[in-house]
Amino acid sequence: MLNIILMGPPGAGKGTQAKKIIATYHIPHISTGDMFREAIAAKTPAGVLAQGYIEKGLLVPDDVTIDLVKERLAKDDCAKGFLLDGFPRTIPQAEALEKLTKEINRPISAVINITADKEVLVKRITGRRVCKECGAPFHIETLKPKVEGVCDYCGGELMQRKDDTLESLAVRLEAYENQTLPLVKFYEDKKLLHNIDGLIGLENVFKTVCDIFEEIK
Ligand code: AMP
Repeated sequence: MLNIILMGPPGAGKGTQAKKIIATYHIPHISTGDMFREAIAAKTPAGVLAQGYIEKGLLVPDDVTIDLVKERLAKDDCAKGFLLDGFPRTIPQAEALEKLTKEINRPISAVINITADKEVLVKRITGRRVCKECGAPFHIETLKPKVEGVCDYCGGELMQRKDDTLESLAVRLEAYENQTLPLVKFYEDKKLLHNIDGLIGLENVFKTVCDIFEEIK
């Protein structure tokens, strides 16, 4: 069963790999970042609450985030697997997820941790562009769309995320180091962790992901 967590610092290539994974394995993509961005656009109570945190680069409080995932993971389309992208990001979230996956009998089968050093992350994030419509990620140098400013997948307009500025990125990297890095040991101890070097190129990262999936499927 592919009940997968995709982890890694901002800019490691999670979004790009997520797109490739869902296109190949047809499992729902549960990105808490995308869910928050949708909630902000729709001005829902969770969105209004999350907006200030996200624009500053801070993590949204655990209870809000956990509730969002709880609701999503219980849906029927997650019965045959799911890809969690950007969740969990703190130990309390990981503990809540463990409890939840037990309750609904959908245990995590693997945690994919994509790694990259800071210098590379800064370059990737500041050059990143995303589709306004479907969230697909591109890069002004390394992952150009076929037509400038237009999404290859849905034809939507490309934009720069408000939190992809140098200022927000510094806060996000700090949040990652302080709050999310402890999850590496958490999942290592549970024998679920698979580290992949994010610098080997996106096709090689994807091939490694596929090899891991074939092993656990
Ligand atoms: P992402 O698109 O995954 O980089 O997420 C964008 C922003 O959404 C993050 O910088 C956080 O502010 C917020 N966010 C996404 N996922 C979480 C999470 N699991 N816990 C707390 N905040 C989150």
